Amino acid sequence: MVVGPNEEGVVRNENPTSRGQLMVVATPIGNLGDLSARALALLQSADVVYCEDTRHSRTLFSAHGISARQRLHALHEHNEASQCAEIVERVAQGEQVVLISDAGTPGISDPGARVVAAVIAAGLDVSTAPGPTALIGALSISGLDTERFVMEGFLGRKVGERAARYEGWHREERTIVFYESPQRLATTLGELAERFPDRRVAVVRELTKLHEEVLRGSVADVAAVVASREILGEIVVVLAGAPAQTPLSDELIVAALNEHMASGLSLRDAVNRVVEQLGASHRETYARALRLRADEGA
Ligand code: SAM
Repeated sequence: MVVGPNEEGVVRNENPTSRGQLMVVATPIGNLGDLSARALALLQSADVVYCEDTRHSRTLFSAHGISARQRLHALHEHNEASQCAEIVERVAQGEQVVLISDAGTPGISDPGARVVAAVIAAGLDVSTAPGPTALIGALSISGLDTERFVMEGFLGRKVGERAARYEGWHREERTIVFYESPQRLATTLGELAERFPDRRVAVVRELTKLHEEVLRGSVADVAAVVASREILGEIVVVLAGAPAQTPLSDELIVAALNEHMASGLSLRDAVNRVVEQLGASHRETYARALRLRADEGA
């Protein structure tokens, strides 16, 4: 039964009465043996399979003896929007629609999220046969904290775009994961080495494939290795988060404010200096400085 929005606006999809369903199926990220038995059965029985590149998926199909039988349709970043209506219609008509990408899990730095959202919005059923995804594989063998992490996808080609991401990482305590191309890896690690030379990093390359390799070390050391040799293949970078921040004590802020005001700085300049120096909140430091001045005047 598909339960529509209830009073809280929550949509629950459970026990669909019709057979129609969108199945998001993960496929191998290199080693074809990583296709699960369930994924194989779904690919064999689906009415239709949407994939990024039909030629690429034919290789997976033939390796596992799956017959394509005109069931393969292309769904890529350029036609995802227009394919949504077609997929919704198929699911509504009771078809078993399987969605795969070239490798790994659809929707993870790959097309898929829009189709999933469209099927949900139509009140139809979506489920998954989970499996490989490069980010989880890389994180799991990085040796870094896996308790809390953040996925940044691809960082972008423009220097400014990347710099804006790095800004947020100064105080990001969770482990940071991102996908990178071999052509940009040395540049990106160089940029990271300027900002976070001592943080731990794992560069995970060609997971599950013949030339699988993990470079682990400080950002500065790994950047130097990467700059000195050619790195090929598919890459995930896993970067340690910032050390946990100890909350700033009131005494520390007051001492810094007193010091700067005693040296002749105006209240506003002293506040700005403390914010810069300690990373304190501007609003709270300003309020604290006003209270200090009021106390002095009392
Ligand atoms: N949907 C995929 C997933 O679930 O991982 C990711 C697709 S994204 C377009 C492709 C990127 O994933 C590559 O550029 C690389 O950064 C990463 N990747 C994919 N396969 C990989 C592998 N075998 N080893 C390391 N990184 C891989």
